[in-house]
Amino acid sequence: MSDSDRLQTYRNKRDFARTPEPSGEALPRGEAPMFVIQKHAASTLHYDFRLEADGVLVSWAVPKGPSLNPSDKRLAVPTEDHPMEYVDFEGNIPQGEYGGGTVIVWDTGTYRLLPREGETDTFAAAYERGRVAVWLEGRKLVGGFALIRTGKGEKARWLLIKMDDESADPGRDPVRDEPQSVLSGRTIEDVAAEAE
Ligand code: MN
Repeated sequence: MSDSDRLQTYRNKRDFARTPEPSGEALPRGEAPMFVIQKHAASTLHYDFRLEADGVLVSWAVPKGPSLNPSDKRLAVPTEDHPMEYVDFEGNIPQGEYGGGTVIVWDTGTYRLLPREGETDTFAAAYERGRVAVWLEGRKLVGGFALIRTGKGEKARWLLIKMDDESADPGRDPVRDEPQSVLSGRTIEDVAAEAE
Protein backbone atom coordinates (compact mmCIF):
# COMPACT_ATOMS: atom_id res chain seq x y z
CA MET A 1 0.00 0.00 0.00
CA SER A 2 1.40 3.44 -0.82
CA ASP A 3 1.64 6.15 1.81
CA SER A 4 -1.08 8.18 0.16
CA ASP A 5 -3.46 5.22 0.17
CA ARG A 6 -2.75 4.66 3.82
CA LEU A 7 -3.72 8.26 4.61
CA GLN A 8 -7.00 8.19 2.68
CA THR A 9 -9.08 7.33 5.74
CA TYR A 10 -7.38 10.11 7.68
CA ARG A 11 -8.12 12.64 4.94
CA ASN A 12 -11.69 11.48 4.36
CA LYS A 13 -12.53 12.19 7.99
CA ARG A 14 -11.34 15.79 7.90
CA ASP A 15 -12.07 19.13 6.22
CA PHE A 16 -8.68 20.82 5.99
CA ALA A 17 -10.33 24.18 5.35
CA ARG A 18 -11.66 23.96 8.90
CA THR A 19 -9.18 21.98 10.99
CA PRO A 20 -5.63 23.15 11.71
CA GLU A 21 -4.40 19.55 11.48
CA PRO A 22 -1.88 18.70 8.71
CA SER A 23 -3.14 17.13 5.49
CA GLY A 24 -0.07 14.94 5.14
CA GLU A 25 1.61 16.13 1.96
CA ALA A 26 5.15 16.07 3.32
CA LEU A 27 7.49 13.18 2.70
CA PRO A 28 8.39 10.88 5.57
CA ARG A 29 11.45 11.65 7.62
CA GLY A 30 14.56 9.59 7.09
CA GLU A 31 16.04 9.32 10.57
CA ALA A 32 15.37 7.05 13.54
CA PRO A 33 11.65 6.27 13.70
CA MET A 34 9.65 8.60 15.90
CA PHE A 35 6.86 8.12 18.35
CA VAL A 36 4.41 10.60 19.79
CA ILE A 37 1.78 10.38 22.49
CA GLN A 38 -0.78 13.14 22.14
CA LYS A 39 -3.16 14.00 24.93
CA HIS A 40 -6.46 14.69 23.22
CA ALA A 41 -9.41 16.19 25.02
CA ALA A 42 -12.15 15.35 22.52
CA SER A 43 -15.65 14.09 23.39
CA THR A 44 -13.72 11.86 25.79
CA LEU A 45 -10.16 12.38 27.02
CA HIS A 46 -7.62 9.92 25.64
CA TYR A 47 -3.96 9.55 24.70
CA ASP A 48 -3.14 8.89 21.04
CA PHE A 49 -0.13 6.56 20.87
CA ARG A 50 1.54 6.80 17.46
CA LEU A 51 4.56 4.96 16.04
CA GLU A 52 6.27 5.90 12.79
CA ALA A 53 6.28 2.96 10.40
CA ASP A 54 6.45 2.84 6.61
CA GLY A 55 6.07 6.60 6.25
CA VAL A 56 3.00 7.10 8.43
CA LEU A 57 2.12 7.21 12.12
CA VAL A 58 0.40 3.96 13.06
CA SER A 59 -2.02 4.93 15.82
CA TRP A 60 -3.96 3.68 18.80
CA ALA A 61 -6.21 5.66 21.16
CA VAL A 62 -5.51 4.79 24.80
CA PRO A 63 -8.29 6.09 27.07
CA LYS A 64 -6.27 5.88 30.29
CA GLY A 65 -2.86 6.63 28.81
CA PRO A 66 0.34 4.67 29.43
CA SER A 67 1.27 3.18 32.80
CA LEU A 68 4.71 2.38 34.17
CA ASN A 69 3.27 -0.55 36.13
CA PRO A 70 3.67 -3.84 34.20
CA SER A 71 0.52 -5.14 35.93
CA ASP A 72 -1.65 -2.54 34.19
CA LYS A 73 -3.26 -3.45 30.89
CA ARG A 74 -4.42 -0.33 29.12
CA LEU A 75 -6.98 -0.66 26.35
CA ALA A 76 -5.56 0.67 23.05
CA VAL A 77 -8.08 1.13 20.25
CA PRO A 78 -6.57 1.14 16.73
CA THR A 79 -7.31 4.34 14.81
CA GLU A 80 -6.48 5.50 11.30
CA ASP A 81 -2.88 6.05 10.22
CA HIS A 82 -1.83 9.68 10.59
CA PRO A 83 0.66 11.66 8.47
CA MET A 84 4.18 12.19 9.76
CA GLU A 85 3.62 15.93 10.22
CA TYR A 86 1.15 15.08 12.94
CA VAL A 87 4.12 14.23 15.17
CA ASP A 88 4.38 17.79 16.48
CA PHE A 89 0.76 18.90 16.11
CA GLU A 90 -0.85 20.63 19.03
CA GLY A 91 -3.77 22.96 18.92
CA ASN A 92 -7.52 23.19 18.85
CA ILE A 93 -9.65 21.22 16.41
CA PRO A 94 -12.93 23.12 15.99
CA GLN A 95 -15.99 21.66 17.68
CA GLY A 96 -18.13 19.84 15.17
CA GLU A 97 -15.10 18.66 13.20
CA TYR A 98 -13.77 15.12 13.47
CA GLY A 99 -11.91 14.81 16.78
CA GLY A 100 -13.01 18.29 17.81
CA GLY A 101 -11.16 19.39 20.94
CA THR A 102 -7.65 20.13 22.16
CA VAL A 103 -4.41 18.27 21.42
CA ILE A 104 -0.99 18.56 23.07
CA VAL A 105 2.20 16.58 22.55
CA TRP A 106 2.33 14.76 25.86
CA ASP A 107 5.53 12.91 24.96
CA THR A 108 7.65 12.34 21.89
CA GLY A 109 11.01 10.98 20.83
CA THR A 110 12.42 8.05 18.92
CA TYR A 111 11.88 4.35 19.34
CA ARG A 112 13.24 1.06 18.19
CA LEU A 113 11.39 -2.14 17.57
CA LEU A 114 12.26 -4.94 19.99
CA PRO A 115 12.34 -8.05 17.82
CA ARG A 116 11.50 -11.46 19.13
CA GLU A 117 14.59 -13.12 20.48
CA GLY A 118 16.89 -14.43 17.80
CA GLU A 119 14.90 -12.92 14.96
CA THR A 120 14.99 -9.89 12.81
CA ASP A 121 11.62 -8.26 12.57
CA THR A 122 9.72 -5.59 10.73
CA PHE A 123 6.99 -3.36 12.09
CA ALA A 124 4.50 -4.79 9.61
CA ALA A 125 5.31 -8.37 10.65
CA ALA A 126 5.05 -7.50 14.33
CA TYR A 127 1.72 -5.74 13.79
CA GLU A 128 0.37 -8.67 11.80
CA ARG A 129 1.39 -11.03 14.56
CA GLY A 130 -0.34 -8.81 17.13
CA ARG A 131 2.67 -8.03 19.28
CA VAL A 132 4.46 -4.72 18.69
CA ALA A 133 7.19 -4.34 21.32
CA VAL A 134 9.15 -1.09 21.32
CA TRP A 135 11.81 0.68 23.33
CA LEU A 136 10.80 4.32 23.68
CA GLU A 137 13.35 7.11 24.04
CA GLY A 138 11.04 9.92 25.05
CA ARG A 139 11.16 12.81 27.46
CA LYS A 140 8.75 11.26 29.95
CA LEU A 141 8.82 7.65 28.88
CA VAL A 142 12.04 5.68 28.42
CA GLY A 143 11.81 1.92 28.26
CA GLY A 144 9.97 -1.04 26.84
CA PHE A 145 6.27 -1.03 26.03
CA ALA A 146 4.27 -3.66 24.20
CA LEU A 147 1.08 -3.37 22.22
CA ILE A 148 -0.53 -6.78 22.27
CA ARG A 149 -3.60 -7.97 20.40
CA THR A 150 -5.77 -10.40 22.30
CA GLY A 151 -8.85 -12.29 21.19
CA LYS A 152 -10.00 -13.01 17.67
CA GLY A 153 -12.40 -11.56 15.13
CA GLU A 154 -14.97 -9.19 16.58
CA LYS A 155 -13.54 -9.71 20.06
CA ALA A 156 -9.99 -8.74 19.10
CA ARG A 157 -8.59 -5.84 21.04
CA TRP A 158 -5.20 -4.32 21.71
CA LEU A 159 -3.64 -3.63 25.08
CA LEU A 160 -0.74 -1.31 25.92
CA ILE A 161 1.43 -2.87 28.62
CA LYS A 162 4.65 -1.69 30.25
CA MET A 163 7.31 -4.33 29.77
CA ASP A 164 8.81 -5.64 32.98
CA ASP A 165 12.27 -4.14 32.53
CA GLU A 166 14.50 -1.82 34.56
CA SER A 167 12.38 1.16 33.56
CA ALA A 168 9.21 -0.21 35.13
CA ASP A 169 8.19 2.06 38.02
CA PRO A 170 4.78 1.47 39.58
CA GLY A 171 5.40 4.37 41.95
CA ARG A 172 5.50 6.93 39.18
CA ASP A 173 2.35 8.02 37.36
CA PRO A 174 3.26 10.47 34.60
CA VAL A 175 -0.31 10.62 33.27
CA ARG A 176 -1.43 12.01 36.61
CA ASP A 177 1.66 13.99 37.61
CA GLU A 178 3.20 15.23 34.33
CA PRO A 179 0.34 16.72 32.33
CA GLN A 180 2.28 19.31 30.32
CA SER A 181 3.26 19.26 26.66
CA VAL A 182 6.91 18.32 26.21
CA LEU A 183 7.09 20.76 23.28
CA SER A 184 5.54 23.87 24.77
CA GLY A 185 5.13 23.24 28.49
CA ARG A 186 1.45 23.99 28.09
CA THR A 187 -1.41 21.96 29.53
CA ILE A 188 -4.58 20.99 27.69
CA GLU A 189 -6.31 23.78 29.60
CA ASP A 190 -3.71 26.34 28.49
CA VAL A 191 -4.16 25.42 24.83
CA ALA A 192 -7.95 25.20 25.08
CA ALA A 193 -7.99 28.75 26.49
CA GLU A 194 -6.43 29.96 23.26
CA ALA A 195 -9.32 28.66 21.14
CA GLU A 196 -11.31 31.45 19.55
MN1 MN B 1 -7.49 11.33 19.31
